[in-house]
Amino acid sequence: MLKRFFAYYRPYRGLFMLDFSCAVLSGLLELGFPMAVKLFVDRLLPSQQWGLVVAATLVLLAIYVANTGLMAVVVYWGHMLGINIETEMRRRAFEHLQKLSFGFFDNQKTGHLVGRLTKDLEEIGEVAHHGPEDLFIAVMTLIGAFALMFSVNVQLALLTAAIVPLTAWVTSRYGGRMTLNWRDLYSGVGAFNARIEENVGGIRVVQAFANEEHEKRLFAEDNARYRATKLTAYRIMAASTSLSYLSMRLIQIVVMIAGSYFVLTGSLSHGGFVGFLLLIGVFFRPIEKINAVIETYPKGVAGFRRYCEFLDTAPDIVDRPDAISVGSLKGEIAYEDVSFGYSADKPVLSNVSLKIRAGETIAFVGPSGAGKTTLCSLLPRFYEVGSGRVTIDGIDVRDMTMASLRRQIGVVQQDVFLFAGTIRENVAYGRLEAKEADIMEAIRRAQLDDFVARLPDGLDTIIGERGVKLSGGQKQRLAIARMFLKNPPILILDEATSALDAETEAAIQASLAELSKGRTTLVIAHRLATIRNADRIVVVDSSGIAEQGRHQDLVARAGLYRRLHDAQALVSHG
Ligand code: ADP
Ligand code: MG
Repeated sequence: MLKRFFAYYRPYRGLFMLDFSCAVLSGLLELGFPMAVKLFVDRLLPSQQWGLVVAATLVLLAIYVANTGLMAVVVYWGHMLGINIETEMRRRAFEHLQKLSFGFFDNQKTGHLVGRLTKDLEEIGEVAHHGPEDLFIAVMTLIGAFALMFSVNVQLALLTAAIVPLTAWVTSRYGGRMTLNWRDLYSGVGAFNARIEENVGGIRVVQAFANEEHEKRLFAEDNARYRATKLTAYRIMAASTSLSYLSMRLIQIVVMIAGSYFVLTGSLSHGGFVGFLLLIGVFFRPIEKINAVIETYPKGVAGFRRYCEFLDTAPDIVDRPDAISVGSLKGEIAYEDVSFGYSADKPVLSNVSLKIRAGETIAFVGPSGAGKTTLCSLLPRFYEVGSGRVTIDGIDVRDMTMASLRRQIGVVQQDVFLFAGTIRENVAYGRLEAKEADIMEAIRRAQLDDFVARLPDGLDTIIGERGVKLSGGQKQRLAIARMFLKNPPILILDEATSALDAETEAAIQASLAELSKGRTTLVIAHRLATIRNADRIVVVDSSGIAEQGRHQDLVARAGLYRRLHDAQALVSHG
């Protein structure tokens, strides 16, 4: 996994080297400072050569200015390295997301997937930048500071070395508890986000049921839990910050007492004394850094593990290597002995065979849950047949590239998905490169032109999230306009008008009839009246295709169709 992680650095080797070497240089300068002070106090000051003293101060100033530059490089370019890696990972994750099939998304929570592409990757980016560099610098500074301490005074260094493990123990103890607490915090944030996302998404349902108080209570629980976790984190933070401050000062006091003794007995110079005290300060900073790394590291690792896991979920429906890109097909469809189930233990379709002529309008009717939608989903390969095959113009759909296959098929469903944006954008989704005139034509053919003409912003009217500013009929017309623009030889209308009132339904039926002209059309209908004129009606029930034929023949046969027909007639007349 480490190898996989570092592979992301490869394109940014230059940036990494720049960042890394600047950080190392800056660390060395920090280490050099106490030693410079030592020399200053021991050599320069007693010589009483003021010119030299001023010169040395100027040199020090120059070094500081240089170090300022180095730090700027480390902060800016270092983070650039992090964000570059993060961006690349996010690009790959999003690309992968586009490849995954319907079956994958059926089993995912949206918030969960969003989290993977945002928060997870942010944490990885943070580690990508700080991890290797900080760890190296910290260890380098620690060792360097110790070595310098020993060079100044061995006894004093040994004394410090004896106390340090104690303070390190205290800090790491709290660091560990902190890590645990952060984990709670993050799952808290997750629950939080999910709650808000769901509430906002379902706010209309919440208000319609007047369940605001219930929602408030649920939210208050999460909110309180989050607060409690955060308070624990702050308590630990307060304790560890003050404890590490205390231990640093204690070491300083011990060094001051022992150092004073060594100065008075002549085994330590004044400069050495001051330098040593400064070295303690240098020495403590990396300990803090290491703790920070210890804290972010598990989050980054967990995030990266989830990221890899996600990238490794192979899309279950992919183009065959020798798949052909088909041009415009005639639209002759054949299901040959097709079986399918969403899970192995629950078959939905068993040995279904069906031929549909090019240009034919074929209707599927039958009880809810019989498998009508499923049958149609196999055609654009939203799901893959378990056995048998589905062909268009005699070519197995699995032998075509998915992009070219899906260009042949237009799907209009009951719940139209519209993107938050303008009417223009949503219609143009049918053919992204469409010209203004084509869009207008499609809108006219979907009989949406009067509506659009009355809008102050016309085509540029914003329709709201999922098209909330449109009526059901308008949404459906927008979907139809999109399909006119796409102009596929095959059309699937899956209960496209079932959610509409009778009057709107009748009006939209006319547009759909216009749309289906010259195309092979698969209609799934709930209200039988709407498919009376279909070339053929296929009745689907749980055991497969129960009967098929024209309306009159099926009514005469007194089978399932007749029963459905009579039941609906009863409802509408009774
Ligand atoms: P119809 O369109 O005839 O009402 P469907 O084709 O939607 O029926 O559903 C057929 C069966 O498959 C039902 O039992 C339904 O519960 C199941 N089903 C539909 N979609 C899925 C899915 N995405 N995952 C699992 N099972 C599903
Ligand atoms: Mg259905």
